[in-house]
Amino acid sequence: MKEIQRLKEAILKEYPRMTKDDTFTFKCHPGVPCFNQCCRDVNIFLTPYDILRLKKSLGITSSEFLAKYTISPFDKNLPYPVVMLKMEEDETKRCPFVTDQGCGVYGDRPWACRMYPLGLASPGQQNQEETEEFYFLLEEAMCKGFGEDHKQTVAQWITEQGIEEYNEAGEEFKEITLHKFFQESDKKLPPQKIEMFFTACYNLDKFRDFLFKTSFFDKFEVDERTQKEIKEDDHALLTFGYRWLRFALFAEPTMTMKDEVVESKKREMEKKKQK
Ligand code: SF4
Ligand code: SF4
Repeated sequence: MKEIQRLKEAILKEYPRMTKDDTFTFKCHPGVPCFNQCCRDVNIFLTPYDILRLKKSLGITSSEFLAKYTISPFDKNLPYPVVMLKMEEDETKRCPFVTDQGCGVYGDRPWACRMYPLGLASPGQQNQEETEEFYFLLEEAMCKGFGEDHKQTVAQWITEQGIEEYNEAGEEFKEITLHKFFQESDKKLPPQKIEMFFTACYNLDKFRDFLFKTSFFDKFEVDERTQKEIKEDDHALLTFGYRWLRFALFAEPTMTMKDEVVESKKREMEKKKQK
């Protein structure tokens, strides 16, 4: 993780900033001599929406997907848990989804794979003074796509790769990870809340069980329509998870406790005071 941190710092300090109107020359296709070479031994962070798409595409639960295809590296300096795609553990170190014909989950490939060779930096996470996001180009020597005669703007690339949908779906997650709570270095999530973050963001099926198989809806005001949506639709569930995290992690008024629960908590506190 230190290597990744160093790369992030180098990007912010040294990489030329690109806007959506800037152009770059690049094309990837099965005819390039390096075809599939980049789908091995690579650090790919998965967003909650990546996991939602991939587990659906593979027809498995989020728990199965996380267990089989991901790792969650522990680093005490990370403010919240992250999930990475697990490369094969043999000498090939290939992505589990790569095939001779290319990406085996192309229609649902992760955001980072769609973006490559572009990256997007959010300086707010690292540097309080600069907050504007910017694009940058990751020019790696092994990638022969830069030698292809095909010029496009960053905006064209974003459209062609279907990135807008991923950006829109990832907006609320980004707002949580860039929350001021995480900017204050002395504030760390306790283990129970780290688990809560992980479940609500990455393990949607487990989060659904948490909502529907516990007394959650006896404690919080959630209308029937919303309950039906989050029972049936992963997108609605993920959005609800972000609402829940804002309440549970940052004490924001995004959820309403039922009156009887508030009263009962007040009584409990009174009793404690009297002791
Ligand atoms: S998900 Fe697809 S594009 Fe991404 S590394 Fe794996 S095979 Fe390559
Ligand atoms: S290394 Fe570059 S050109 Fe080669 S397959 Fe990967 S993205 Fe395409």
